[in-house]
Amino acid sequence: MARVLFVNIPAEGHVNPSLGLVKQLVDSGDEVVYLCTEEYRTKLRHTGAQFRAYPFDENIFAEFDFNLLEVKHPLQFTDFLLRGTIATHLPAILKLVEKDSFDYMIVDSSFGWGVHILSEVLKIPTVCSVTHFVFQEPINLLHLNPLDDQAGVDMEGIDLEALNERIKANSQAIAAKYNVAVPAIEDLYRQYGQLKLVFTSRYFQPDSEQFDDSFKFIGPSIVQRLDAPSFPLDLLRAQHQNVVYISMGTVLNKDLDLYELLFAAYQDIPAQFVLSCGKETDMGQLSDRIPDNFIVKPYVPQLEILQHADVFITHAGMNSTSEALYYNVPLVMIPLSSDQPIVAARVEELGAGIMLNKNNLTADDLKSALLKVLNDSSYKERARLIGDSLRSSDGSKQAAQEIRAMFTTVR
Ligand code: UDP
Repeated sequence: MARVLFVNIPAEGHVNPSLGLVKQLVDSGDEVVYLCTEEYRTKLRHTGAQFRAYPFDENIFAEFDFNLLEVKHPLQFTDFLLRGTIATHLPAILKLVEKDSFDYMIVDSSFGWGVHILSEVLKIPTVCSVTHFVFQEPINLLHLNPLDDQAGVDMEGIDLEALNERIKANSQAIAAKYNVAVPAIEDLYRQYGQLKLVFTSRYFQPDSEQFDDSFKFIGPSIVQRLDAPSFPLDLLRAQHQNVVYISMGTVLNKDLDLYELLFAAYQDIPAQFVLSCGKETDMGQLSDRIPDNFIVKPYVPQLEILQHADVFITHAGMNSTSEALYYNVPLVMIPLSSDQPIVAARVEELGAGIMLNKNNLTADDLKSALLKVLNDSSYKERARLIGDSLRSSDGSKQAAQEIRAMFTTVR
């Protein structure tokens, strides 16, 4: 039996994939202490892990002069990593475990250099949990959004020199506090740890040949969701043969203009559309303009609906995309932010979907992309290829066994 420390950030997309792995470890007799913020306590309950909450101050975001969803320069991410994640959370995390000893720990990759600091301070072997694609280099601007050309990127108001200086000063202060060396700026966001668990397949990961055997591609974590709402699945094919599911995820889902455009584009298409519009979205003036072929709900059991869907129209969030491909569903993608353009570009490159540009999107673009993906069977075949790779990845069970074998040897 091992004593394991798991440290995560407060984000659905990072906590959800970890649940299956944690349950595997607990079921095989390990004791897992899981650290995250209070709102994630119930999610962890059924895994059998011991949960400890570290404090999270929402006001931290107010200290940054940018919105995390609209980052314009990668140095802004680095600045946030140092001030908003490492400097803020590490002291509280270390305090919560000061009286414990662990055999090893698993830490989410969003802690970047913080993963290394934790392993130096606690002096235990470290596994990095990576819930998105792995990036070998810092994400540069064009990489961040291939839909924007460089001229279109608005850098106004960013004082790069001051940002650089602040990052340097903060990384030196942190290094002195924990008695570690200061890494190069481009290494602050690297994946640290003897083992990196990546929740996708080698096939889906771009440029996967760059990654050595310390990267284990274990596939997405698709586990039954006990908190999913019910949905009348028998209505899906009551009137039409094809089912199209639409969701822009759980964060950037309040764009009523986009929903109006989707209604206009698809109201005459003989298919059953299901739109998950978001729990906090006020459909307001749109609610009496919902076409007859649409079912609109604030939140749906996505895994179940995907198993009946012919096409998924998505913002290309990593979780939504992986879930759809896991069930062989081809995609029409409208990426909005963060790594979504990269995920969408990879799906398009592998032939499993079409990426649309959110800027100047028209009803005709939406209509022709959907009809193409519905009627050309190659999209479905390519989605199945990625799906095969995701389903045949080793998964959490194998990962748990490997981690255990690795760290038992160490002891
Ligand atoms: N989701 C769901 N029902 C909904 C909408 C979303 O279960 O009606 C889940 C979906 O299955 C996925 C997550 O919410 O696991 C969305 O994550 P993703 O990374 O795709 O997007 P984000 O919400 O982080 O933008």
